[in-house]
Amino acid sequence: MIRKTQPEFIVPYLRDASNFSGGNAEEVVIPETSDELADFLKNETRPVTIAGAGTGLTASRIPSGGIIVSLERLNSIAKEGEGRVRVGPAVSLNELQGFLAPTGWFYPPNPTEALASLGGTLATNASGSRSYKYGVTRDYVEEVELILVDGRKIFLKRGLKITEPLRFEDGSKIIFPDISYQSPDCKNAAGYFVHPGMDWLDLFIGSDGTLGIFTDIVLRLAPRPDDFVSGILFFEEERSCWQLIPKIKSFDRYKIDPCSLEYFDHNALERLKAKYKAIPTHSKVALFFEQDVLKREYYDLILENWYEFLSEENIMLDDSWFAQGPKDVQMFHDFRHDVPAIINEENSRADRVKLGTDMAVPDKYFMSMMQFYRKTLKANDLDYVMFGHLGDNHLHINLLPEESQRDVAQKVYDQMVDQILEWGGTVSAEHGIGKLKKKYFAKMVGPSGLEDLNKIKYCLDPENRLGAGNML
Ligand SMILES: Cc1cc2nc3c(=O)[nH]c(=O)nc-3n(C[C@H](O)[C@H](O)[C@H](O)COP(=O)(O)OP(=O)(O)OC[C@H]3O[C@@H](n4cnc5c(N)ncnc54)[C@H](O)[C@@H]3O)c2cc1C
Repeated sequence: MIRKTQPEFIVPYLRDASNFSGGNAEEVVIPETSDELADFLKNETRPVTIAGAGTGLTASRIPSGGIIVSLERLNSIAKEGEGRVRVGPAVSLNELQGFLAPTGWFYPPNPTEALASLGGTLATNASGSRSYKYGVTRDYVEEVELILVDGRKIFLKRGLKITEPLRFEDGSKIIFPDISYQSPDCKNAAGYFVHPGMDWLDLFIGSDGTLGIFTDIVLRLAPRPDDFVSGILFFEEERSCWQLIPKIKSFDRYKIDPCSLEYFDHNALERLKAKYKAIPTHSKVALFFEQDVLKREYYDLILENWYEFLSEENIMLDDSWFAQGPKDVQMFHDFRHDVPAIINEENSRADRVKLGTDMAVPDKYFMSMMQFYRKTLKANDLDYVMFGHLGDNHLHINLLPEESQRDVAQKVYDQMVDQILEWGGTVSAEHGIGKLKKKYFAKMVGPSGLEDLNKIKYCLDPENRLGAGNML
């Protein structure tokens, strides 16, 4: 096991993509095996924060004291029978995709940041542009090896229900507390996942690095589609784009059935123009769509279905882009990934902590949500970029205030939280709560919700040492 206490070694672990500063730790510990980690934790009493790849957006891997455990040496990857893969937590999405490229399988959750580690994506239950159809990380996790902060180890498989005790190798057991809290019924990454009939595995996934440490992971895969029909549609009117979404959702699924519906507002397009010169000058907003094509022989038919459907709509069809091959598909994904990357860079340059929404609402509030965002943003003289998962009623609005406008930006953010919660939505549909959104999370679940969630935390980590300061 590598142990380092020199500040220059610790500093790189005190960062993530949120630009949050102020973390500190006494030591970084890098185990070579999970047994080594379990033994180490049995004799440890300090707070422990797990470091993944540091692409998180909520400062959840940034500790305020104690030790950092980096799992970077646990990076094996191997086939696990048909349609399954076994990965160490440090394997990145990029590496997994590279490993699967020569096979007939693929890993459907497609979080935009491919440098993220699989361990990190489990801890945050990451989702991505294709989650609209394929679901989120939780839907693809079959088994994990998990270590509690006191060093107890367990192999968890699908099917072990929360109503059963969690039994450890040393003979001890944990019983799920009697609580009434339940997770909201929309896309959600805020708080522990609690649903009747769920597995223990479901609880640990998305627990923001606070309940257990994933040291080995078995993922379910899906047959790789032969191709994707995809395009970037440009619109002169933002409303035309918004109105298209319910039409797509209610259209005959045998004809068009997208896996991604991603939005780019005017300010996102303006920033992208530096790299993508072909963006039409008079376009106001854009929509990236993608549909998987399981067998190549269906490609032309699906493309035709899309053309037929879109030709009826108010879209700049001649100026829109349709992929002509895998290179274009990749280019469209880069186009999508470039937006948050540009914003994160802008924030770093301005030394600004990210102030971005990650809220979602139930389907029926989609149009009200878009109108509300438009009105609220117009009423304040702030720079911002709005993009993201339009199909899931889940947009990222990044507020980019000047130094003197920070209070205004904060007020706008608070106003959005109030409205979204009034509609039964969530303050985080994707990135989790971490250290940056606790205030909003407390508002979302209320005192009794917080009490229930604390009971869950207490039964797995009574001294509050794992991922301390995250979520609760
Ligand atoms: C440009 C950009 C685009 C992004 N796009 C998306 C997106 O589309 N969808 C999305 O969901 N997220 C997105 N993110 C956020 C980020 O990539 C995800 O949250 C990702 O899952 C974090 O993984 P990581 O390995 O970087 O984790 P870290 O940031 O290192 O850690 C995140 C949390 O996971 C915990 N953790 C890490 N490893 C383990 C482990 N083995 N066991 C237990 N806990 C662990 C940490 O303690 C921490 O609480 C984006 C980020 C950037 C910078």
